[in-house]
Amino acid sequence: MHLLLAQPRGFCAGVRRAVEMLTSVTEKSAAPVCVYHEIVHNTYVVAGFRNRGVRFVETLEEVPEGAVLVFSAHGVSPALRDAARQRNLTVIDATCPLVEQVHQKVRQFASREYRILYIGHPGHDEVTGILAEAPDQITLLADVREMESLEIPAAAKAVCLMQTTLSADETREMLRKWQIRFPQMEIPESGGICYATQNRQNAVRQLAGEADAALIVGSANSSNSRRLCELASAADIPAYLIDGPQEIRPAWLDGSETVLMSAGASVPENIVQECVHFLRNRFAATVEERVIHTENISFPVRFGSV
Ligand code: SF4
Repeated sequence: MHLLLAQPRGFCAGVRRAVEMLTSVTEKSAAPVCVYHEIVHNTYVVAGFRNRGVRFVETLEEVPEGAVLVFSAHGVSPALRDAARQRNLTVIDATCPLVEQVHQKVRQFASREYRILYIGHPGHDEVTGILAEAPDQITLLADVREMESLEIPAAAKAVCLMQTTLSADETREMLRKWQIRFPQMEIPESGGICYATQNRQNAVRQLAGEADAALIVGSANSSNSRRLCELASAADIPAYLIDGPQEIRPAWLDGSETVLMSAGASVPENIVQECVHFLRNRFAATVEERVIHTENISFPVRFGSV
């Protein structure tokens, strides 16, 4: 077996920053540390922090008095920020700056009375936080079929924003159709799919044609990992989303000469390397790292008050 390891893969700048912030708080804080939702959508990352005593909560009521509350990389609603402030909790905001940028765009366009079309997956933490910025002005669209019933008067101001981890191919197609129907619609450059999502998708798109099968490392609730798996499937090869090496079924890969491996933006590199180790042992795989993009983006860690 020949294993093509896609690069870039795994941790993006937003995830790295959120993990660094929570690590630092966990090491320094004498008070209990709670995180609103999963810090990032990865089973291993969450389990690692849980083992160090971090509590992951779904409501503010679960946060005890005197605790430190960390907002996850996916961001939160303005109402949750206010409620945390009113309870005088010490808050650390690990929202990815690129998600925060979309929050800012929503506020700006809402104050200028735009109709905001937002493409995203209903129920995802990032989407829930964004919708809450201007619930009366945002229309959530989960896919292109929902566009069919949409009507925007020609004179109305409209803008399209989107979840940072969508499929770039599908979204491009959707926007092309929308712009024909609604030529007045604005699409700001910094209101959509982030650099990390695009780079990981480009790498899988470019390499899938050389492979007989693909293994995408990532947790089932990770939006960008699922998109990578769909992208590999779209290249007509069997593609499997695996949380870690224990989920690899050797029968999937019997007869595969070349296997592509990538990992979603919330996956630690040690989990990828454990999967590589499994394939070396089980299939005597030779490993080739294929660099499609070089990333040198990092976001500074700031612990200012929220
Ligand atoms: S995937 Fe993109 S938006 Fe999400 S945390 Fe990473 S850099 Fe930020």
